[in-house]
Amino acid sequence: MPKRSVEDIKDESRGLRGTIVPTLHSDATHFTDDDYQLLKFHGTYQQDDRDLRIERKRAGLDKAWSFMVRSKMAGGECTADQYLQHDDIAEDLGVGNLRITTRQGFQIHGILMGGLKDCIARIKDSGLTTLGACGDVVRNTMSPAAPFDDAAHRDAQVLAEEMTELFLPETDSYLSIWLNGEKLMLDEEEKATEAPAEPIYGKHYLPRKFKIAIAVPPRNDVDVFTQDLGFISHVVDGEVEGYTVTVGGGFGMSHGKTVTRPYLAQPLFYVKRAHVLEAAEAVVTTQRDYGNREDRKLARMKYLVASKGIDWFRQEVTSRMKGETFPAKELVFDTVGDALGWHEQGNGKLLLGVWIEEGRVADATSAKYRSAMRELAEKFRLPLRLTPNCNVIYFDIDPKDKDAIDELLRRHNIPHTDEFTEARKTAHACVALPTCGLALAESERVFPSLMDKIDGILRELKLEKEAILFRMTGCPNGCARPYNADIGFVGRAPGKYAFYVGGSIRGDRLVGLEEKTVPFDELPGKVRPVLEEYAANRHEGESFTDYWGRTHVNGEEPSADQFHVELAARAERMAAAKAAKEAAPAPVQG
Ligand code: SF4
Repeated sequence: MPKRSVEDIKDESRGLRGTIVPTLHSDATHFTDDDYQLLKFHGTYQQDDRDLRIERKRAGLDKAWSFMVRSKMAGGECTADQYLQHDDIAEDLGVGNLRITTRQGFQIHGILMGGLKDCIARIKDSGLTTLGACGDVVRNTMSPAAPFDDAAHRDAQVLAEEMTELFLPETDSYLSIWLNGEKLMLDEEEKATEAPAEPIYGKHYLPRKFKIAIAVPPRNDVDVFTQDLGFISHVVDGEVEGYTVTVGGGFGMSHGKTVTRPYLAQPLFYVKRAHVLEAAEAVVTTQRDYGNREDRKLARMKYLVASKGIDWFRQEVTSRMKGETFPAKELVFDTVGDALGWHEQGNGKLLLGVWIEEGRVADATSAKYRSAMRELAEKFRLPLRLTPNCNVIYFDIDPKDKDAIDELLRRHNIPHTDEFTEARKTAHACVALPTCGLALAESERVFPSLMDKIDGILRELKLEKEAILFRMTGCPNGCARPYNADIGFVGRAPGKYAFYVGGSIRGDRLVGLEEKTVPFDELPGKVRPVLEEYAANRHEGESFTDYWGRTHVNGEEPSADQFHVELAARAERMAAAKAAKEAAPAPVQG
């Protein structure tokens, strides 16, 4: 049967129900393609282990199906108890570890069909949710991870919570599917009715996912220019007067689709605090009404802003608002990095940023992150925030506990970032293989070894104190945001990467292409001359970002074209194979 469009699937889903319930109550090992789309709204992705695909196929076995479940928390904040509940769920139902996402949430991997309902119900019981963590809705709202006790940081978190509330889907299918216990079969199947439309999203939800972040200058840890919608606070006389609104960022590029490309967000206007939520709703509904629903690859709001122009977009948004808008304020950032290490919080308490290698809360290496985080939660009852760089910030720490916490971290071999190069503190890679279905090359599994070599070069050139932003992804989709890094590596085929230079440690400039295809082993050799030139010619105190901007014209901006030849051919091959499979007669059930 030909695949149905996601718009049709949403349209006929009865408030995101589909056939999720009967499948949960059947012997099926996995959900249909249609339900796969709906499950995302509920916060889960159906996946299979790509490392095992060939072996299992040869053995005549089904794919190794499992689920990734993602929880949502405004600004990445959770309590010690909520952390412990996630850790317990990962132990009982998942693969025994947690992953921190770039949107300040947790992911639990390896949930089997039989544990899916329990997993989501337990996350909901913890006081958090998975609803809207994925799908064509507003995703987890991000805000600065370090809760410094000042007006701007306090308000950013309040605003993130207000946004979360405003844009949470209202469908009752979430509660009835995952939480209502035994009577759900009757409710769902026998009383199937037309679900009421969502007040903001309507029946079809948004054309695609939608990302919102709030930034407090000068730190841009939320990478605000990569978001569909950004809010940057402006403080007057110690209070937040309002926010500059930015729109149209996003880094996704589609395999083989040459018109897709990354964009940095542009300033839209400035709005007083009282009208911020109204502005957010006006932007979201503009995308709802005008976003592309014909082609999902062009459905993100960045394409709407780019195709209609920022002036048209501004006019449309302001026509939906009662509040006055003003010209955007000047935006000054200094880093996309996290507040790692110990800091005064501003209220007599301390906060501590702990670097977590690639956001994996596991005990798999000598650094026992999982044991350490469990012990911190149990002994010190510390609340925490997950950072957009996949680290953790503990806060409200009594200064008298500082030494004991340091000792605990040492005992579990948690790396102390004082010993890191500055570059290593912000370096980041996406998940890629084996779990990401779109990965073309390794990323997270090979990045630490690459950064070890780059660290060696940085130390040799006495650049270990320079903040230089390195990021890597396993495909052009850009999840780890390589397109605004100082130096980015983007997977194009197994062991091969496009090499980019010229983004910004502040997150406000796109990279340029230096070389289209570089074998993995040759990447350090490409990085070395770039760093040598910087070390030899920079002005005193000049950052790599500023040096490159002063002395270089960036190469071509990243575009799908740079991946087109290989990826278009691959996309065609995959489409032909899929069409052949769909055309083949259905196997006879024995
Ligand atoms: Fe997967 Fe990485 Fe590509 Fe994102 S960027 S789709 S995580 S391989």
